[in-house]
Amino acid sequence: MNESRRQETGDSVTGFWHARPFPLVAILAIPAVAAAGSLLDGTASWIVAFGAAAIGVTAALASTGRAQAGSAGISAPMTAAPNANESVLRRAIEVRCAERTAILENLADAVMLVDGHGETRFANRIASHMLGESAAIAGTRAAIEALPTQVLRAVQGVAAARAGDRRRIECELQNKDKTPVVIIVASVKNGDDALATIVVRNVCAEREADRMKSDFVAKASHELRTPLTFLRASAEMFADGEVTDPTERVKFAKDMLGETARLEALVNKMLDISRIESGIARAKFEPVNFVALVDECVNLQQAEALRRRMALSVSRRSAGTIAPADPDLMKQVMLNLLSNALKYTPDGGTISVEVDIDNLARSVVVSVRDNGLGVPEHALPQLFGKFYRVEGHEKVAKGTGLGLNLCLNIVEAMHGGQIGVDSQVGVGSRFWFAIPLEQAGRKAA
Ligand code: ADP
Repeated sequence: MNESRRQETGDSVTGFWHARPFPLVAILAIPAVAAAGSLLDGTASWIVAFGAAAIGVTAALASTGRAQAGSAGISAPMTAAPNANESVLRRAIEVRCAERTAILENLADAVMLVDGHGETRFANRIASHMLGESAAIAGTRAAIEALPTQVLRAVQGVAAARAGDRRRIECELQNKDKTPVVIIVASVKNGDDALATIVVRNVCAEREADRMKSDFVAKASHELRTPLTFLRASAEMFADGEVTDPTERVKFAKDMLGETARLEALVNKMLDISRIESGIARAKFEPVNFVALVDECVNLQQAEALRRRMALSVSRRSAGTIAPADPDLMKQVMLNLLSNALKYTPDGGTISVEVDIDNLARSVVVSVRDNGLGVPEHALPQLFGKFYRVEGHEKVAKGTGLGLNLCLNIVEAMHGGQIGVDSQVGVGSRFWFAIPLEQAGRKAA
């Protein structure tokens, strides 16, 4: 074998390249798989393309009898070099093969190269994770048989078509989770050899994100519709001259203003949450004295507490509660917890606030306790979700169901802290949040 190659190629490197067909598959594979990959993700496309080039290199070497095709991996040529040029070239090919195998094996997508009958030529590691161990065995149809039948039809279709032809299939795998996937099948031509690459991407996370987005839009529209309907009906009554009594007119106008304010609050909270979740909003850190901040917020709510004959006080003020935080955002959290305690506690109730240090967790902990309605156990896991309101609470107080979610985002996403609740129906609730005493690179004064 070595001898015959030497005769064919001569001593020159150029001669070797002319005599060997392997670059052809590699060159063909690059645009074909890049095109396939680009349908999934621009970054992945060229990685896949280079991988396919490596497959081409190996396939060509295998055709000369120098690579072993026992498994569907990419193997490098093994035999001894007959001359210096060839041996340098072979070493370069081995290095490229190893690099591209590593890239393919570390991709998050399953990548396979199959012939027109669906027999595997190559499959990366993730392909066997997705489709079963046997999917990685070269020379079998295990991989194609583990995929929905339309994939085989697509392989036959692109194999019969010109190079670069590709098909996109959205389907579910035939596993117990029915994993949603996007599959790109693209043709690779090497002379008479009609091959196809199959790239399988798990789109579970994307589907879940889409579901959450439509869920959010549905809930937001529902919440917006109620005040809008009220405002429209009221405006129509005014326009038709139906409200003539001056006292009634004032009451109507006040109700409309109230609903407008609720609408404004809802939209503002939605925008705040979306700014935090998309990373646009950033906390402006400075040393915050939590005792002073809590006193200020409690003072702001005293008038409402007094009006409703409620006892509102700060029952504990630990020393050293200074931590780096955004003071405006911390006030927003504090006022939301206080106003909730006021809203969901009957007149005459008691609300007490504590500012403490958790030495173990190195955090400032602020708690707001009330002896109000409490939250049923089944509702606790959903309480910090978007638009969630405890059943029956809408009759007690108006709300958006977004306040606690905003608090969660401010405390956890923006400050690396924690927020939580302990509650019992009919006994009351303790809402708390903890802010680290030190942020990375920032220290309290
Ligand atoms: P909103 O109060 O505007 O509805 P939040 O997100 O602040 O929205 O609160 C979500 C839900 O959590 C409330 O609708 C209420 O059912 C419940 N909740 C919040 N705070 C308390 C509390 N202190 N006591 C009882 N239930 C509460």
